[in-house]
Amino acid sequence: MQYSLAQLFKEPTGSTRDYIVDESFIGPEDGLDRAQGWVRVIRTHEGFLVRAEMETQVNLTCSRCLSSFKSQANLKMEEESFPSINPVTGRMQEPSDEADGVIILDDHHVLDMAEVLRQYSIIEVPIKPLCSEECLGLCPECGSNQNKEKCKCSTGPVDLRWSSLADLLIEKQD
Ligand SMILES: [Zn+2]
Ligand SMILES: [Zn+2]
Repeated sequence: MQYSLAQLFKEPTGSTRDYIVDESFIGPEDGLDRAQGWVRVIRTHEGFLVRAEMETQVNLTCSRCLSSFKSQANLKMEEESFPSINPVTGRMQEPSDEADGVIILDDHHVLDMAEVLRQYSIIEVPIKPLCSEECLGLCPECGSNQNKEKCKCSTGPVDLRWSSLADLLIEKQD
């Protein structure tokens, strides 16, 4: 997912390049995730406009049950990019004020879409990812995944009158 834009830079404003994406990228949890879609790069007066629409499937860890699950997202982006070196003159360009976007081209004018996707997918990840809204999480007693098995621990509010009896029962099980 690395596209050299050096040639496009030499072309007149409005020139475009289209790329079809169906590749892997390093996702928010540093695993290999999938992206499918398209990228269009348009030569602007100062640099490039990068438009993309992609469907991503990233692996996340559920914050309740700690199991890994796949999360799909639709990413739409429109980002401007300003090369730091003009490939025609070879001179350094003064970056303009809006230049601190997600897309930063290296000195060889290579657009690294995998890195852009990674940045976007990190932003998309919720603070507490859940495998499902109804995720039951882990048992606080034995740590088993409550979505997969019902353990015999008494979770939930324990009636104090029975708590000592419950303790006894748990001891017996050990
Ligand atoms: Zn979960
Ligand atoms: Zn349990």
